[in-house]
Formats: sequence, C-alpha cells, structure tokens
Amino acid sequence: MIPAPFDYLAADSTSHAIGLLAEHGDEAKVLAGGHSLLPMMKLRLAQPSVLIDIGRVFELGGITATADELIIGATTRHADLASSELVRTDAPLLAHAASLVGDPQIRHRGTIGGSLAHADPAADLPMALVALGGSVQLTGPSGSRQVAADDFFVGFFETALGEGELLTAVRVPRRPGVPWGYQKFVRRANDWAIVGAAAIAGRIALANMGPVPLRARAAEEALAGGASPAEAARLAADGTSPGEDIHADRAYREHLARVLTERALRHLS
Ligand SMILES: Cc1cc2nc3c(=O)[nH]c(=O)nc-3n(C[C@H](O)[C@H](O)[C@H](O)COP(=O)(O)OP(=O)(O)OC[C@H]3O[C@@H](n4cnc5c(N)ncnc54)[C@H](O)[C@@H]3O)c2cc1C
Repeated sequence: MIPAPFDYLAADSTSHAIGLLAEHGDEAKVLAGGHSLLPMMKLRLAQPSVLIDIGRVFELGGITATADELIIGATTRHADLASSELVRTDAPLLAHAASLVGDPQIRHRGTIGGSLAHADPAADLPMALVALGGSVQLTGPSGSRQVAADDFFVGFFETALGEGELLTAVRVPRRPGVPWGYQKFVRRANDWAIVGAAAIAGRIALANMGPVPLRARAAEEALAGGASPAEAARLAADGTSPGEDIHADRAYREHLARVLTERALRHLS
C-alpha cells in the first residue's frame, strides 16, 4: 500500500512547527512516530498533502518533574516512558501502560503526544492519562492552554486540539507509592485492548468501552461510598457505550469491563 503524494517538512523548533501548521492549514498533518498516521495514509484514510515532522524538535522531548507533577514532552517515546526511573517511581501506571503498547519497534518509534492526539479509544496511554487525572498542554499561534484528560478526548478519534495547535507536553500527578491496577484484555500479546481498565486513587478509566476513554463513574462513586472492589466493579459498565466488532459484542465488552475493573481494583499494586 502506497500513500498519496505529500511534501515533507522538518520543523526545527516548536514555534517553527506551529508556523508551518498555520501556513499549511488543513492540508498539513503533524508527523511524530508515524505509527498511526502512516498506516492511515497507506489505507488512504488520511491524505495530507504536507507532513510536518516534529521528531527533530529537541525541546518537545524529555521528562522533567516539578514538586507535584511529571512533565513529559510530546515526542517522548513509549520505550523511554516505560524505562524512565522517574516515571516508574512517580507514575508507575503510566510506565506500565507504555510497556504494553504494541511491540518493541512500535514502542521505540511511537510517542505519547502522537498516541494522545490520535485518540484511539482502545489505546493504552489515553486510558492511563484519564485514570491518572493528567492533562495536556496545547500550544498554538496565540499561546498555550492546559486541558484536563477528562476534557481532551471529545469523540471517536477526536480531541480538543484546535486548528493550528500542537500537543506540546503531558502532565501527570506524581504519586510515588500509591497503589494502582492495570488490566488489558487482548487476544494476542501486542494487540490493542479489546477492553482495558486502569485504577488509581479512586479513579477508574476504561479503554474501548465507548468513543473515548471513559471514567467508570458509577463504580468510582460506589468505591467512595465504601463498596468492596467486587461490588463497585459490578457497576463498571454502567453509562458506557461499547461498539461491536469481530473481537467482541456489546454484552461481552460489558462483562469484560466488570471483570477487568474488579481485577484492577483487587490487584492494586
Ligand atoms: C502494529 C501496531 C500495534 C500497535 N499497538 C498499540 C497498542 O497495543 N496500544 C496502543 O496504545 N497503541 C498501539 N499502537 C499505536 C502506537 O502507539 C502509535 O505510536 C501511536 O498511536 C501514535 O503515535 P505516533 O507518535 O506514532 O503518532 P503519529 O502516527 O505520528 O501521529 C498520530 C496522529 O497524531 C497527530 N500528532 C502526532 N503528534 C502530535 C502532536 N504533538 N500534536 C498534535 N498532533 C499530533 C498526527 O498528526 C496524527 O494525526 C500500535 C500501532 C501499530 C502500528
């Protein structure tokens, strides 16, 4: 499969990338790891005439910490998240989620910014960010804004990224030692989740149970009210709207959401 012809432009700074986005508008797409965009281009589901490569923008990579948050540059690769001592200590749920993305090739090219901007509801990092109560920094011609994970995913493969905006960084609360649980149900190792569940500090997020990564709010409320993991997990599928495909119908996904939520809550590690 061969994509439609396109021009390739390499940005050398964040402001350069934003300038190129403003110049080329709808015709352009940001290229990060290319592991979601290029397959879409090969299938002709996306046909940008310009690709703006942010892979060489030094300031968009790397992981730093403030007193209470980790700040992760958009082009930080899944493999770097998974192996970072800082992330493994202060946000181990995120490091674990990154370690389960695809295979080593995918993890060495794919980026956290690309995964979040792509917004596949079955993906690992969007669910992890929602569970952690993190946020994203979006930067455009008129400055930067911070958007909570709960508000960033607005529809099926659709986010709050505005025209001309770049996802520049991801923030997650530092929670060393706080118990967490992460469950991903797959047919084969390295697949996307048929359903996923992630839990930490009273928050529960689900993957592939609707058009966006969802909070299992009824289960969260039950937990807050003193319910046991088993009692709370029985409510995990309430308010969800899972799709159907060759892997699972709706009833099976709802069942998985309950089972995986219970496991995530029981296996808080
Ligand atoms: C075989 C295979 C298996 C996979 N398995 C999994 C899995 O198990 N779990 C999982 O979660 N994912 C999986 N993935 C997806 C993988 O994680 C991708 O790396 C990720 O979804 C996209 O990241 P990327 O850096 O490659 O983004 P790209 O493909 O470069 O970009 C994806 C989209 O985001 C936009 N974009 C990228 N960066 C930015 C930015 N900074 N600001 C604004 N827009 C941006 C692009 O324009 C494009 O629309 C798999 C992919 C493949 C090919």
